[in-house]
Order: sequence, then structure tokens, then C-alpha cells
Amino acid sequence: MATENKEEETAVKRVKTPETLRGMKDILPDEQIYWEYFRRRAREISEAYSFGRIDMPILEDEKLFVRTVGKQTDIVEKELYNFVDKGESKVALRPEATASAVRAYINHGMLNLPQPVKLWYMGPMFRYDRPQSGRYRQFHQYGLEVIGGADAVIDAQLILIAIKLFEDIGLKVKVEINSIGTAVTRQEYKIELVAYARKHRKELCEDCTRRLARNPLRLLDCKATGCRAVMKDAPQILDWLDDDSKQHFMTLIEYLDEISVPYVLNPHLVRGLDYYNRTVFEVVPDRGDDVELGSQSALAAGGRYDGLVEQLGGREETAAVGLAIGIERAILEMKQQGVEPPPLPRPDIFFAQIGAEARRLALRHFEEVRAAGFNVVEAFGKASLKAQLEASNKVDARFTIILGQLEVQDGTIIVRDMESGAQETIPMDQMLDYLKKEMARK
Ligand code: AMP
Repeated sequence: MATENKEEETAVKRVKTPETLRGMKDILPDEQIYWEYFRRRAREISEAYSFGRIDMPILEDEKLFVRTVGKQTDIVEKELYNFVDKGESKVALRPEATASAVRAYINHGMLNLPQPVKLWYMGPMFRYDRPQSGRYRQFHQYGLEVIGGADAVIDAQLILIAIKLFEDIGLKVKVEINSIGTAVTRQEYKIELVAYARKHRKELCEDCTRRLARNPLRLLDCKATGCRAVMKDAPQILDWLDDDSKQHFMTLIEYLDEISVPYVLNPHLVRGLDYYNRTVFEVVPDRGDDVELGSQSALAAGGRYDGLVEQLGGREETAAVGLAIGIERAILEMKQQGVEPPPLPRPDIFFAQIGAEARRLALRHFEEVRAAGFNVVEAFGKASLKAQLEASNKVDARFTIILGQLEVQDGTIIVRDMESGAQETIPMDQMLDYLKKEMARK
């Protein structure tokens, strides 16, 4: 028997604990204070601007992303988590949520609702990218989509909401904007850009030489020094805009001026997804003018996608615009800028117990205290009073209720004021009244 156990023990020891997959993270309780703060503020602002929450599946038909985000974009070509499921369907973990939101808009006949339809979402996204600080394989986005509206006032308000949310969580940010016109003008511009870049081929990085044929717009936001030098004098997409897009962009700028949104025109901003047209923007940290931001610096990004609804089989000319905020990046930036989320509310009461009988009663009375509306905590797993008082101090409870053997016999409890150290013995049936009175005095 003894040998058998020993064998079992060594067998257990040999088990290697699985790790999280590369680029994926656990979000531990200590971190949640940041997450909850962001989530709460995001929820509040979404509701304040009349957005309705939508939750969409994480797993979708692969076609949804290939068709919309674009076959030759990095997100689809290199980063899509796709596989064939047990029913032989080609599926993918969503790399972003705009395509899903538009699918849902069409599937559920939302075009029959008053337009535009305003949706918000929050959840995990997946991209099989090379992980680094601020770039993960599973990350979270909070996003807003306004579907069924073409006016630049919607773009302006969306940008404003993003800025307001960042301000709400204590961050200094600025927004970079550009217009990429229509698919047709973009095509014309691409030809011009490629012709220019070819002349400087030798100065480009390896990635950009490849992009030249497949996705030339990405040359514009390449961070390699050589490419940046070449692109400084590249033709600008704004010069290729059609009249309507130009007008739309001018109007957007007027609106942004009207509401004093601090924007910067960035002619090199093009975004990596095919479905965008006209307005594109990114929100970046504002750490002062001379601070060089890294390549993973964008906190949020968005733009118009006027063709997407039709492209997915919805009604023609359903214009739309949206944005997504990277929650991990927002939290990293909060830490970088020294923003502390407000602490969790301080507990009113810590419930301590000594001895088996007291523990049994404490389990029940704890529920009474909680049901009476107090914020009460416990450490029923601890036996010694010292350890429990330490725990009570750690969470900074205002009062500690102590229930020991003597109190069980007498039908009383001790209430200790943790600030003054004063203790009172109270009949058990007066516990709630006493606590209410004492809390009101604090
Ligand atoms: P996109 O969907 O590419 O327009 O990205 C919108 C925002 O999501 C970015 O500005 C980032 O804040 C965030 N984001 C995108 N990709 C990642 C990633 N791999 N890891 C963490 N955050 C990301």
C-alpha cells in the first residue's frame, strides 16, 4: 500500500502544469480594479449617448472576416485564428467586432428600426500576432457602431465620445484623423503611391517591399526609419479625394473645431482593414509633443464603413461609422500616466468567529447582516482571532463583529470599533439595530 502511494505521488509530481497560451493572459483579481473601472465608465458613457448593448458570438463563419476585413490584410492573411470545426465548417475566432455587428444588424432586420442604430459591445478579440507589450493574441475591445447614418456629425460625435471616455478614466489623449476617400479614389491613389515607392525600393524595409504588391497603403504607417524617410515626401491620399469625400472631411473638421476636440491631421493614417472609407482616426496618448510613441501606441481606432452593410447583403447605401478601444492598452496607459482607479468601497463590517459552534452560527448571522444591506466580509477559513483581526485591518473594515464560545452561550456578540478599538457586548437580537445606529454615526 505504502509503495503504491509513493508511486502515485511521484506520478503526480511529474505532471507539468499547463501554461496559458502565448500572447494570452489571466486577468487576476488585483488587476480587476482597473478593468472594472474602465468597464463601468464605458457602460455609463454608452448609455448616456443612447447606445444599446450587443453581445455577439466569439466564433463566427470565417467568411465574415475574409470578405470584410480583406483577404490581403495582415489580420486575415496572417493573424486569423481559423479552423475547421467538427461539422466541417470553416470558422474563426473574431479578430474584431465590426463585421459581426453589421451581420447582426442585417440578420435581425435592424434597418426597420429608427436610423441610425447605435450599438456598443465589449469582449475578447483574437489575432495570431507576434506578442509584445501592448499586443496580445487575446485582447479586449470596447466598441461603438453607428449604423445607418452618413452625416459627418456622427463621426464628430463618435470621436468626441472616445475622447470623453479617455478623459473620464483620467487619460490625456489626442486624436489623429484622415480621410481615405472611396474604394475608387483609393485605387487611383494606390497606383500613384506604388509608382513613387518603386523609385525608392532600395530604401524600404523587407516587409514594405512585400507590401508594395499586396497592400501598399500600409507603407504609409510603417515605423521603420528608412520607410518613414521615404514616405515623408510620398503623395498624400487627401489630394486624391473625390468632391463628396472632401466635403465630408471638411465638415467633420468644422464640427471638431466646434466642440474643441484636439485633433491632428495625419495624412499617413490609413488603417489596416479594407472596409474603411472616408473618415479614419486613431486616438493616441498625449504625453507631450516631443515624446516619440512606439508602434503599439494607438489606444483606439475607427472610421467609416459605408459599404459594409451592402457588402454583407444588407440594404444599399447604409452608411456607418464605428470605433474600438483596446482595453489592455487603455489600462497600460493608465499605469503609464499614473492614473489610479478609485479603490473598492471600504467594508462596513468584518465578521469574526472563534470555535466550531460560533462558526456555525456566524455562517447564518453573516447572511442576516448582508441581507440588511451592510457591506460585510469574513474569513471563516481562519480559526484564530488574531489572524481574523489582522484580516479585518487589512480590508480596513469599520467594525468587527466577534462571536466566540462565551457569546454563543450568552446569546450576545461583541462589536469592535476598528478605529477607536472600543468594544461593546450586544444581545444578538439587537445586533442589526446596533450596527445601523453605529454606522449612521460614522
Ligand atoms: P483595430 O481593430 O486594429 O482597429 O484596433 C483597435 C484597437 O484595438 C487598437 O487601437 C488597440 O488599442 C487595440 N488592439 C488591436 N490589436 C491589438 C492586440 N493584438 N493586442 C492588444 N490590443 C490590440
